[in-house]
Amino acid sequence: MDAHQTEPDVSRPPAPWFQPLLRCPADRGKLQLDGPVLRCGSCGTEFPVVQGRPVLIDDETSLFSRSEFLEGRHDAPGGERRNARIRSMLRRLLPSTDANLKAGQSYRLLSSLLTEINPRARVLMVGAGDGGTGASPLTAGNTFELLRSDVFVGPSVDLVCDAHALPFEDGSFDGVVIQAVLEHLIDPARCVAEIHRVLRPDGLVFAETPFMQQVHMGAYDFTRYTVVGHRRLFRQFERIDDGACCGPGMALAWAWRYFLCSFTRGPTTHRIATAIARLTSFWLVWFDRFLIDRPAAQDAASGVYFIGRRATTPIADREIVASYRGAIGH
Ligand SMILES: [Zn+2]
Repeated sequence: MDAHQTEPDVSRPPAPWFQPLLRCPADRGKLQLDGPVLRCGSCGTEFPVVQGRPVLIDDETSLFSRSEFLEGRHDAPGGERRNARIRSMLRRLLPSTDANLKAGQSYRLLSSLLTEINPRARVLMVGAGDGGTGASPLTAGNTFELLRSDVFVGPSVDLVCDAHALPFEDGSFDGVVIQAVLEHLIDPARCVAEIHRVLRPDGLVFAETPFMQQVHMGAYDFTRYTVVGHRRLFRQFERIDDGACCGPGMALAWAWRYFLCSFTRGPTTHRIATAIARLTSFWLVWFDRFLIDRPAAQDAASGVYFIGRRATTPIADREIVASYRGAIGH
């Protein structure tokens, strides 16, 4: 299918299992398929279906609007220009300064916990249009009912929605994954409250969020979390596991790259500085294998993670402070 098709298209309707769970993002009214649109039975708002993906965005509260998706302004990059493709190939030839050392382990733990509560668990992956780092223990084998949402229309996206207003009935999912997304939200706490709402009473959440990372995705980058700060964000959940997922070596490599890039003024010198930085700092991430489980690494981590089970009462702030396991004061 042409990635830049902009006409409403219902040839790929929502997968049957999640269609009854869909709700209006504005007032949670039930949605009815009405020709090429989904119509809210409560407020009457019409939501388009673009390339088979429902676009359940509330224009009143979101940074995005439904018309932008109809116009193809948020399609996945499919028709990249030749120069962009060459640049992307060259980037892949450079050594990486990214190393998520815990994602695979976290997804394995999540998958085994999900199997205990529902062998055919329904899992919402928020902002998972890129597939998710290390997600294969969850996504391979067709074990679970997965639903991937994002704010663009692409081959790995089942549904377009704003993570601040998840368009689902309460208690719809056994698990929710939110990986490298919360930093891009204006109000992460609102999103976590939504995750809590759409999970069943003993449902599971897995989140990964940057700590010591520089700005990425430009204007759409708002906040960072320590392990303890991340724990407080998920205070309505019982902790199963948390800690650093990307280590101090990655944080240092990123700091070096952004330091060099801060001398540049245009895209060409920025790209050259990025290449120099990656060629001179890739070895730093090798240290993360030795550092990632050390207490002091939590104070210097590039990224943090949390796996938890939905609870009815929040953990007290006093307990959150007492849960600190870093190096300072120990
Ligand atoms: Zn409505």
